[in-house]
Amino acid sequence: TKMSKPGVTEAAVKQDPRDTIFAKIVEGSIPCKKVYEDDDCLAFDDISPQAPVHVLLIPKHPIGGINDATEEHATVLGKLMTKVPKIAKLKDIDHSGYRLVVNEGIHGQQSVRWLHIHILGGRQLNWPPC
Ligand code: 5GP
Repeated sequence: TKMSKPGVTEAAVKQDPRDTIFAKIVEGSIPCKKVYEDDDCLAFDDISPQAPVHVLLIPKHPIGGINDATEEHATVLGKLMTKVPKIAKLKDIDHSGYRLVVNEGIHGQQSVRWLHIHILGGRQLNWPPC
């Protein structure tokens, strides 16, 4: 099995979220396969899916990662979580189940420094994720 993925570097962890590919996806200068959008968040298919359903749910507000979350982000992060069931239903995995993943930093193998929730489903997932 693949133990690491491209783009997981110290430089990526230090990156300003506004310089990432997800900033360009939010502003619309790079396309995505949109699943859901509202004023606060955007959900789109992962370009390199690790399961039959692999959606990335991101805030439109730039937050580098969960390490950068503060009280000021409480509302937007709360809103993000409440959109998960809606997206699961849109992808028809609400009954079969799914998994949320938030990678942080080097050990978490985060490759894009813009906070995102992976929504994975459509097959049996394993535990531990390793
Ligand atoms: P991380 O590794 O930071 O947890 O997750 C980043 C995810 O973004 C990866 O699963 C990767 O496949 C995905 N990704 C990277 N670049 C793009 C892109 O340009 N478009 C889309 N849709 N996904 C991307």
